[in-house]
Amino acid sequence: MLKFTGKGVYGAIAVGRASVFFQKKKAKIRRTGIADVEAEFARVEAAKEKATQQLSEIYEKALREVGETNAQIFEIHMMMLEDEDYNESIRNIIETQLVNAEYAISLTANNFSSMFAAMDDAYMQARAADVKDISDRLITCMTADCEKTIHSDQPSIICNDDLTPSETVLLDKEKILAFVTAYGSSNSHTAILARTMNIPAVIGVGEEFLSNIKDGDMIAVDGFTGEVFIDPDQQTLEQMECKQKEAREKKELLKRLKGKENITLDGQKINIYANISGVEDLGAVLANDAGGIGLFRSEFLYLEGTDFPTEQQQFEAYKKVLVSMAGKKVIIRTLDIGADKKVDYFDLGEEENPALGLRAIRICLTRPEIFKTQLRALFRASVFGRLGIMFPMITSVSELEKILEICSEVKCELQEGGIEFSNDIEIGIMIETPAAALISEKLAPMVDFFSVGTNDLIQYTLACDRQNPRLESFCDTHHEAVLRLISLSAENAHKAGAWIGICGELAADTSLTEAFLKMGIDELSVSPSFVLKLRNTVRNIDLRS
Ligand code: PEP
Ligand code: MG
Repeated sequence: MLKFTGKGVYGAIAVGRASVFFQKKKAKIRRTGIADVEAEFARVEAAKEKATQQLSEIYEKALREVGETNAQIFEIHMMMLEDEDYNESIRNIIETQLVNAEYAISLTANNFSSMFAAMDDAYMQARAADVKDISDRLITCMTADCEKTIHSDQPSIICNDDLTPSETVLLDKEKILAFVTAYGSSNSHTAILARTMNIPAVIGVGEEFLSNIKDGDMIAVDGFTGEVFIDPDQQTLEQMECKQKEAREKKELLKRLKGKENITLDGQKINIYANISGVEDLGAVLANDAGGIGLFRSEFLYLEGTDFPTEQQQFEAYKKVLVSMAGKKVIIRTLDIGADKKVDYFDLGEEENPALGLRAIRICLTRPEIFKTQLRALFRASVFGRLGIMFPMITSVSELEKILEICSEVKCELQEGGIEFSNDIEIGIMIETPAAALISEKLAPMVDFFSVGTNDLIQYTLACDRQNPRLESFCDTHHEAVLRLISLSAENAHKAGAWIGICGELAADTSLTEAFLKMGIDELSVSPSFVLKLRNTVRNIDLRS
């Protein structure tokens, strides 16, 4: 048995025979001399016409299967085919070097993709793969097997060096158990498409995989962990079977509930969103049909590195989440460092009671340069989707006033710099302290929404350190005081025309769902794997009884 590890882009298990494509796909482009330049130009134009026709068919298929936002990439490809610089480069090479069109296209593709790959902006870097994709298509359109797609007669696991977005959309889902690629990033269009199409996939397993895999090899793919096993042993197969059974049961639930409303038997609706800690959780969010992201714990961007993430790094991450969620609401919480989340480079110093110390919004207000960097990244990303921003650990009106002032300053700076941001960003606060709940009447008119962080609200209300396992018997998560604070916050939010959600662990406690619905809670945000269970619960509640 050989094991390779890459990035799982869609959480599912597949076991089957490998269909290896990479040797079959790559035909070397030859450089041949030509005499008739005009004839070569005409070949390029004919290929372009064919390629555009193919792309518009792929676009239609993508539109049906993966939705408008994901299909847009093929519109971009059509536009790239018409790009002046790209076309001029091909013509120039043909004309000046008197070479065949295939060679001119291939050289242009290499030049343009190296240029894109060297850019700082991750969006532009991603265009490197696109320019290669359209160029391969153009070249293929000049050959006889122009309609060639990656396919397999028997259900199998596609193994390839890489897959282009168009190859991914054209995969026949009935015949593809999974795909594994040696290269690729988990945020590429290919990965996003695999997730949306529910194809188990692991990408970036490394070049060594290619020299070890052969057509017909038995292979097991774990899209949850990113592990790929060639010739798996009995124990691994049993583990896979077990995971597969679990996943199948979940899929059944998904089949029954996917696309269904979160609505009680008597017609009350609630939004069910998902909590994430980073871009890598997006696959699970989409797979579990969450209606949006109710809490993106942005501090994980700060916990991962050895220094502050730059504005650009943050922007890329936020943008990725917004783009992947394709217009569904994404609520990003500003950094919540401190207490149990320690980061050396913040230099916070020792505290006797860190949970009651300099954490979350208190750090942002004492070190506004850190806060402003994050806000700039958030505002800039806001044009890519439907963004909500929320602030953790609020205890007073004056804190919120300061936050809103800083937000206005950042917006002014962006405006002065001619940098775009959305005018529809929702602003909210977390209700995590008894103080915030008790003055929620004053806080609500200042924001668009509340999100109750029950993990902290319970700890601060019941004076129970959430990190201390010895306090479990004292920590009644259903305590009347906690529920009253949530109810009061809901009442005050609604009075001011704001909405209210719950994003702490209590949101997933199905024994409280009915109580939350009765309080008028508008949204529950839970870990992705809990979304469907919660939907099931909501759909079985009858508030009349
Ligand atoms: C909470 O306190 O309930 C919450 C969602 O925030 P965190 O668990 O990240 O502190
Ligand atoms: Mg909290």
